[in-house]
Amino acid sequence: MRIANSKTDHGHYWSPVTRRLTPYVPGEQPKLGNLVKLNTNENPYGPSPRVLAAIQAELSDNLRLYPDPNAERLKQTIADYYDVTPAQVFVGNGSDEVLAHVFHGLLQHSTPLLFPDITYSFYPVYCGLYGIDFATVPLAEDFTLRVADYPRPNGGIIFANPNAPTGCLLSLAGIEWLLERNRDSVLVVDEAYIDFGGETAIPLVDRYPNLLVTQTLSKSRSLAGLRVGLAVGHPELIEALERIKNSFNSYPLDRLAIAGAVAAFEDREYFERTRQAVIASRTTLVAALAGLGFDVLPSAANFVFARHPRRDAAALAAALRERHVIVRHFRLPRIEQFLRITVGNPEQNAALLAALGQILREVEACD
Ligand SMILES: *Cc1c(COP(=O)(O)O)cnc(C)c1O
Repeated sequence: MRIANSKTDHGHYWSPVTRRLTPYVPGEQPKLGNLVKLNTNENPYGPSPRVLAAIQAELSDNLRLYPDPNAERLKQTIADYYDVTPAQVFVGNGSDEVLAHVFHGLLQHSTPLLFPDITYSFYPVYCGLYGIDFATVPLAEDFTLRVADYPRPNGGIIFANPNAPTGCLLSLAGIEWLLERNRDSVLVVDEAYIDFGGETAIPLVDRYPNLLVTQTLSKSRSLAGLRVGLAVGHPELIEALERIKNSFNSYPLDRLAIAGAVAAFEDREYFERTRQAVIASRTTLVAALAGLGFDVLPSAANFVFARHPRRDAAALAAALRERHVIVRHFRLPRIEQFLRITVGNPEQNAALLAALGQILREVEACD
């Protein structure tokens, strides 16, 4: 018997499903220190000190016990925060896990799932994992989402709002327009970045039983390392997610994650202050990038999506990397000349702008 070792019979023992997968490629988490890391939309400010204290307090002998499988305390906290009931709240190990359960439990139907041609690149990956048929709907020329392109037979609709990686925001009126015309399938709004400039659609869940809103504590609450995500919607949608979750992993949130996440929602003052700091930095960054000649899409997120009319994006990203600044570049149709740059703190943004200024001057000197 031969052991699989060549590209052609890669994965000798793999199941057919595994052979067919094209996994998501997360942004680089470099091992090197002192890099200006603006590639994965993490928050430049640390989590609330109250979060750290709550996690410390949870570090005890109790770790020998399983956590609450339903994370009731966290669900209640989120329910209070958004003025809904705990039965309308689902929590998971990062919103990526929540989204996986959403695809598995709510979006797999005989008609194709719809999402924009440019959006979170994990969506087609989940479709591959769960065998979901999908169709992409092109964004407008200016990268905004045209809701009028969506009302048609579908097995569900999902988009990020603000969208990723563009940062463009769809108004609540736009979402409601679509909900009025799409009653027979679930509409999922992925609000990973909503706290940086949009209005959450959560208040609409009481009126639209097919609306599911997902959020994460990774971005606006600085807890990417803790892995907590959530969904809010009609209890029937939440029950579907619970059924999937309890058929997969009963304890997706550990004791530390539950304690930290509760404290993150409770410390409203810290949340508000750091959120406003990121928003203020974004305004400064957008103006400075425009000053360097970049076209910058209007962003409601903690990143900006920018292209230089005369400079190749891949080359810019490589030159930035040589100067220890990392940003994200997607080699994908329509957006290959864009860079997605996370809004850092003022020092990180200054380092990015200094490096870009140098790179642009050097190239100009060679022209
Ligand atoms: C970051 C991100 C997520 C995932 O967040 P986690 O909670 O860290 O898994 C989901 N959707 C979008 C659009 C994101 O950018």
